[in-house]
Amino acid sequence: IFVDDLAENVIVLDPGANALLQTADVDVSAAAIRSSGALLMQLEVPLETILHAAWVAEAAEVHVVLNAAPARPLPQELLRMVDTLVVNEAELEVVSGSRGNPQNAASDLLERGPGSVLVTLGREGCLLVTHGGIITVPAFVVTAVDTTAAGDIFTAAYAVASLEGRDPEWCLRFAAAAAAIKVTRQGAQPGMPLRREVEQFLESRI
Ligand code: ATP
Repeated sequence: IFVDDLAENVIVLDPGANALLQTADVDVSAAAIRSSGALLMQLEVPLETILHAAWVAEAAEVHVVLNAAPARPLPQELLRMVDTLVVNEAELEVVSGSRGNPQNAASDLLERGPGSVLVTLGREGCLLVTHGGIITVPAFVVTAVDTTAAGDIFTAAYAVASLEGRDPEWCLRFAAAAAAIKVTRQGAQPGMPLRREVEQFLESRI
């Protein structure tokens, strides 16, 4: 992972073991998926494996969250099974096939099946597009040193808050707080905040 002077990252990846994750491996964990509140995936493993996991989750009415990173065009059958599709601006272009304004591209994407489309816009915040309307939430103003994994942490925190039954705006704020703390710290996993830290951050920013 390379981090530039503006705290933005470029990731050079050798998929290694990720590329070997098979549908049979999903079956080994099917009971764990079925008993979960949500299945959160990225596109780091083969598409066939992702589709299979989504089928397992959908059949058990488990909420499917897909962070479409690294981006690639996605089949309709996957989009249809995704409850929350999370993309950054560049991923939105690849997945939607549209270079237009993010709100329009996300609205078009919504028509292709996902329950909602959540677009993260870096320091510009995020926008959530659902059939009920569009919600935008700004990012918190912090001094960023490393944005690596901001999207992952945002997605995870959003999923947690959603499963706890919070309203969408609260979920987005919670996610933005978790990601804001992350970008002030170096490293992907070491930079991940604890829940307690996210709650303290939110209290300090009321
Ligand atoms: P990555 O690929 O590095 O994990 P991403 O490109 O998927 O990140 P971004 O859109 O850059 O995701 O960021 C996700 C969220 O993190 C944003 O919606 C925002 O809430 C927060 N964030 C990112 N950059 C900043 C920043 N400089 N300052 C404050 N918050 C930020």
